[in-house]
Amino acid sequence: MPARLIDGKQTAAAYRERVKADVAAFTQKTGVTPHLAAVVVGENPASAVYVRNKQRACEQAGIGSSLHALPESASQADLLALVQDLNADPAVHGILVQLPLPGQIDERAVLDAVAPLKDVDCFHPENVGLLSQGRPRFAPCTPAGVMELLAAAEVPTASARAVVLGRSEIVGKPMAMLLLARGADATVTVCHSRTADLAAVCREADVLIAAIGRAKFLTADMVKPGAAVIDVGINRLPDSEGGGLAGDVDYDAVNEVAGALTPVPGGVGPMTVAVLLRNTLTAAELQTAGEPG
Ligand code: NDP
Repeated sequence: MPARLIDGKQTAAAYRERVKADVAAFTQKTGVTPHLAAVVVGENPASAVYVRNKQRACEQAGIGSSLHALPESASQADLLALVQDLNADPAVHGILVQLPLPGQIDERAVLDAVAPLKDVDCFHPENVGLLSQGRPRFAPCTPAGVMELLAAAEVPTASARAVVLGRSEIVGKPMAMLLLARGADATVTVCHSRTADLAAVCREADVLIAAIGRAKFLTADMVKPGAAVIDVGINRLPDSEGGGLAGDVDYDAVNEVAGALTPVPGGVGPMTVAVLLRNTLTAAELQTAGEPG
């Protein structure tokens, strides 16, 4: 029997409606329109698409947005100066630096320079620290989107064995923290490229999150029958395989074993954008605290 489809588009649409209503209430109360500043360096076509999607989503939610584009040749000093300007601008509540950045730029230094209260991606060490202590200021967008999908699909995490495939700062690690947090209460294992007997570890999972960036890596023999499988991966297939996008999960085969499964596209991606909108509202609230309303 095929797995239950976890529909990210539908879940994200409902989530975005809630954000939109909360933005309207906030703006009516305070007179402030939340504003997201997106920073793009260079001409990466995928980055351009992601940023356009995020800006369109802002507009639909009643959130203002602006695009700050620097040329591919921009220096680290140029980028840091732009981030400092945005940090100092009271009309900007959230700052999004679209990754990846060109090779001459130290990504970490730039992300560290974003004001913590404007760090809507939750990449600043202060916000990662708060998250790891179980008192998050911002939700890490992609992992929090995964948690929303699990909740919407009524997949229980409490006491479940959760396996996170990937230990990146952006997805794997914060994903593990959210699953481990009080309330989610999963028993969490994090795997990476040096994990021994990866397939056996994956097969223990009731909830399996794939975030490694390798097309169709997770095969049916790595999945416990009935497990919920969330595919974070977004991989462009070579033309020899028809081009297009594939997740980290071998969808057709895993679909026959898993109990529930997200598609790519239309799974985690839309939720990432939805959580970014929520974080922009949270940032505006934090920076507007104390104003009459
Ligand atoms: P990274 O490349 O930063 O991290 C990949 C992780 O996977 C690393 O921890 C790496 O291990 C591990 N890994 C790689 N190959 C293997 C392997 N063969 N066996 C076991 N572990 C392996 O990627 P990201 O976390 O940034 O992204 C992961 C995927 O998610 C990508 O496809 C990306 O495009 C997608 N993504 C999707 C988003 C969305 O909105 N849907 C948002 C962000 C990312 P090690 O640490 O040992 O090198």
